[in-house]
Amino acid sequence: MFASHMWRPWSPVASPAHPLTLVRGEGNRVRDTEGVWYLDGIAGALNASCGHGHPRLIEAAQRQMARLAHYDLVNASHPAAERITERLAALLPGDLGQTLLVNSGSEATEAAVRIALEYWRNVGAPRDRVVTFAAGYHGSTALALHLSGLPYTRSGWADLFPVHRVALPGSARSARTAADAAALAARFAEAFAAGPPPAAVVVEPLLNVGGGIVLPPGLLARIRALCDQYGTLLVVDEVFCGFGRTGRMFGFDHDGVTPDIVTMSKGISSGYVPLGAVTTTDAIKQSFQAEPLLRGLRYGHTTGGHAVAAAVASAVLDVVDEEGLVANAATRGATLLDRLGPLLAYPDVVDVRGLGLVVTVETVDPAVASAVVLGARDRGLLVRQQGACVMVIPPLTLTGDETAQLADTLLAAFDQVCRPAG
Ligand code: PLP
Repeated sequence: MFASHMWRPWSPVASPAHPLTLVRGEGNRVRDTEGVWYLDGIAGALNASCGHGHPRLIEAAQRQMARLAHYDLVNASHPAAERITERLAALLPGDLGQTLLVNSGSEATEAAVRIALEYWRNVGAPRDRVVTFAAGYHGSTALALHLSGLPYTRSGWADLFPVHRVALPGSARSARTAADAAALAARFAEAFAAGPPPAAVVVEPLLNVGGGIVLPPGLLARIRALCDQYGTLLVVDEVFCGFGRTGRMFGFDHDGVTPDIVTMSKGISSGYVPLGAVTTTDAIKQSFQAEPLLRGLRYGHTTGGHAVAAAVASAVLDVVDEEGLVANAATRGATLLDRLGPLLAYPDVVDVRGLGLVVTVETVDPAVASAVVLGARDRGLLVRQQGACVMVIPPLTLTGDETAQLADTLLAAFDQVCRPAG
């Protein structure tokens, strides 16, 4: 009945009209079964931040695999997990020094929601309301999916806990000013006041699945101030933005904000092996002394903090640092945004926006975005369709020449699909 035995995630059950099977990755390019090389404008699964086939990451994985593939973190420990959690503590601001290692972004969200809600129980002042963006996405496991207001990702499940989802005004797709930040902060203030004090706010610094929506500068700082006023925990989802994607090490760095809980995945291991992480403060971890059955967090997975993944993550931090990937993301991203700016003159293009190496061209219709993505692929470039948006999310190792090639190819694909009249 089906052409393959594999059930592809987030995909129609029928095989795609234009299947692409990839067999090799080198640097910022990937090759398919036909021998065709593509410039990778999707960074694998939005996570190959160090590019493909990086010798340092391969070596770190091989060395750890040969020494000790993995061991239980419930009753024991291994140096790879100790090392990456220590390095995250040094990297993250403020008191963010206690890290739970998991396998994915969804698991990181799941754990963060559990930690945030159970913290309030632990301190004897239960709260359960969570405030988030309606257009946010934080994962597809049971607790994580309730945070999103995107109908496509929520799949019609009823809420498991009270969630107040803040809508973006239509114009906020291109909201870039301090006034826009104030207007959106006012919506958050209404959400805070609309019920009992929230347990937590969960936000992405840049809305990935929501359509590459860049938040106006200053908004996160205003949300932090609201959290301080209400004693609410600020959970920042760095699953997509973390480790340089937006041209700063973390998305919250743009606003100089220190969250109470940070979730990470994707770039943490450059996608070479599955890894996620949740980092919080000593005080929040300490509250779990009050947990009656375990005196700890009753959450975890067999492969969470897998030694190979943890070893790769430490090597990723070295590569990001030594190759200057955060600054490279900022520079190449600015160039790309500039080069794609002329698309704003196209009647089928609604917005061109970006931060670091997340550049999004929003079109009038998903059919336009789909045609552009296929046109780019025919020209040797892989970019991502997200609804009516074409998203460019290349490895942070993108070179100057590749930036130019990427921009020229995408412009040509847009020209083919929707060149403006005259
Ligand atoms: N949070 C954000 C911001 C994401 O972009 C994603 C995935 O795209 C997730 C969470 C879920 O991560 P995962 O797919 O690893 O479960």
